[in-house]
Amino acid sequence: MSRHTSFRVGGPADAFVTPATVSDLSVLMSGLNVRGIPCRIIGGGTNLIIRDGGIPGVVVSLRQCCRGITIAASDGARTILEAMAGENLQKLCAVAIRRNLGGLNCALGIPGTVGGAIRVNAGTALGWISDILESIVVIDATGRMNTIPRADLRAAYRTMILPDQWEKSGSYARSVIVSGRFALKSEDGKDIKSEAIKILQQRRRHQPTPLPSAGCIFKNPATGKTAGELIDLAGLKGYKVGGAKVSTRHANFIVNTGGATASDILDVMARVRESVYKKFQISLEPEVLIEGE
Ligand SMILES: Cc1cc2nc3c(=O)[nH]c(=O)nc-3n(C[C@H](O)[C@H](O)[C@H](O)COP(=O)(O)OP(=O)(O)OC[C@H]3O[C@@H](n4cnc5c(N)ncnc54)[C@H](O)[C@@H]3O)c2cc1C
Repeated sequence: MSRHTSFRVGGPADAFVTPATVSDLSVLMSGLNVRGIPCRIIGGGTNLIIRDGGIPGVVVSLRQCCRGITIAASDGARTILEAMAGENLQKLCAVAIRRNLGGLNCALGIPGTVGGAIRVNAGTALGWISDILESIVVIDATGRMNTIPRADLRAAYRTMILPDQWEKSGSYARSVIVSGRFALKSEDGKDIKSEAIKILQQRRRHQPTPLPSAGCIFKNPATGKTAGELIDLAGLKGYKVGGAKVSTRHANFIVNTGGATASDILDVMARVRESVYKKFQISLEPEVLIEGE
């Protein structure tokens, strides 16, 4: 899995499947469900730490079967863009900018796929994906396709909670987001573009590119200082275990300086949490998802 995650860590999956079509995906999901075979969906792998023991079962990528961005509706003032889940999120942002559609600049510079961004409700201080999401289409564990309107989605900080019936049927972990519709407003093209340039420049200034990472490791506490500020004040910038290091540029990034294992990263995270708790009595919660064994 180190080939499929931005952190470049993670042991093997039993199988890595890239369905060719949405109907293949649907057959795959129901077949895995009937046989009780564990399954995980992967987008760009940019918000994931896969443990060194790898992933038991099947990892499914939508990079091939779920592609395309189309205009689903437009009345001049408002346009609904429909994006398939395997599309690059930045491609969606670029399409919106090209068409003078505002609302997606909050997602500018966030790596990964549309499906991953919906699942984790990606965003920045400027807004979250949930702010503009109209509906999603999913395939559930039985292989059935459903449209879920905005009203049935509960968005929270870095998570999208899918409707109750999925969780009750135990199929939640297996539900695949196939596409999303985004409601965007027509705006002045010049304003959108100059805002986009500013956002991207600011990201480049603050983020420790190009070393492999998964972006911000911890969620910001609800009030007070950001996770990065707390980690910095705890004196942890530059703290290192093996190849994993707290970035000296942005303290809420852990970077793989070369040859890091998932366990090095998890050890750095444990030390960061412990030190921040000791100093500030604040328990930092991971923003990155930790999967595998
Ligand atoms: C340099 C850098 C900067 C970043 N900056 C930001 C930022 O500013 N804001 C932010 O929010 N995040 C940021 N991130 C984190 C990450 O890019 C986002 O969370 C991104 O939206 C994750 O998308 P992904 O496709 O990579 O998802 P993945 O990491 O592949 O998956 C994330 C989760 O979503 C699930 N999933 C993925 N696709 C689907 C699907 N189609 N159906 C169902 N479940 C699915 C996976 O199973 C997994 O649980 C950053 C990461 C990096 C490396």
